[in-house]
Amino acid sequence: MSRLSRVFFAPLLGVDSGFGKPYTYVGTVENQGRYTRRVLLKAALGGAVGLALVAPGQLLAAGQAAAAAPATLRLADDLYVVTVPGAANVVARTGAGGVVLVDGASAAASDALLKAVAALPGAGPVRTLFNTHWHPEQTGSNQTLGAAGVPIIAHENTRLWLTTDVKWPWNGQTFKRLPKVAQPTKPFYTSAILEPGIRYGHLPDAAHTDGDLYVFFEPQNVLVVGDVVSLQGWPTVDYVSGGWIGGMVGATQRLLAIANEQTRIVPARGPVLSYADLKAQAGMYATIYERLATLLNRGRGPSEAVAAKPTKEFDAQMGNPDEFVRRAFESLWAYLSPDA
Ligand SMILES: [Zn+2]
Repeated sequence: MSRLSRVFFAPLLGVDSGFGKPYTYVGTVENQGRYTRRVLLKAALGGAVGLALVAPGQLLAAGQAAAAAPATLRLADDLYVVTVPGAANVVARTGAGGVVLVDGASAAASDALLKAVAALPGAGPVRTLFNTHWHPEQTGSNQTLGAAGVPIIAHENTRLWLTTDVKWPWNGQTFKRLPKVAQPTKPFYTSAILEPGIRYGHLPDAAHTDGDLYVFFEPQNVLVVGDVVSLQGWPTVDYVSGGWIGGMVGATQRLLAIANEQTRIVPARGPVLSYADLKAQAGMYATIYERLATLLNRGRGPSEAVAAKPTKEFDAQMGNPDEFVRRAFESLWAYLSPDA
């Protein structure tokens, strides 16, 4: 797509160049805007299509790690973080009516996870499953629990991503759509209350995907946030499914408004965060966003953005930033128009 048509398309797509403002789809069919945006992205990437399928060896890592015993962290009498080694964090709320699960780890870790959840004090059968987003590290128990008739709650965008094959142009990885039985059955758009004490909502800024949600366990004051924040490693800013670095800024600010000083924040990866940690993450993403937007406006490309070390003061804690910076920079193409 030419420079001219990209400028021309941006306003039509409802693109907002200011961070922190929610992205809104244009048109009545929600998927319509996303489809158009994906076409735009493919064009912006110079036609990055025709990608190879993921090598089988890449799928083995989680399965090998799943052999070790899961770790359980008690947050309250009825609330736990359960982590199969090598897999993402899962939160389980036990109760008389059964277990509410936030995320289900990878498919390879699912059996070990569900056994560990069943062994929690006061655990009954799983009665509700949340998907914080569509990534396979979170949706690996959808098949088993969906087949057992457990309702699966996810944002509508997450449901849509799980009904289609997704390809990542940066590494050629392909994700197959989930079978019908594994797809979310209770999609929502904005926010809702599962029951008194458990509320959840979409992060409409489009953070690391456009379907990211939070679940807030109010009596325990625990906020579960998926991959939007982490003290352990940079996120994949998945612009193929609508995520962008400006959305990371907006979402972390939004989470700060939901939480309070005593809230514990559970990410998909790494240790539980404090409110101060969340605040630091919001500041970090705001800083990085400003730097990348400046580089983009000066006509720089992804490799120059990496070379400029826009994350340098955070790298000691967060790790090698190169892939993150590349994805974050590329994510700006979908939302900011450099030649406007
Ligand atoms: Zn993710």
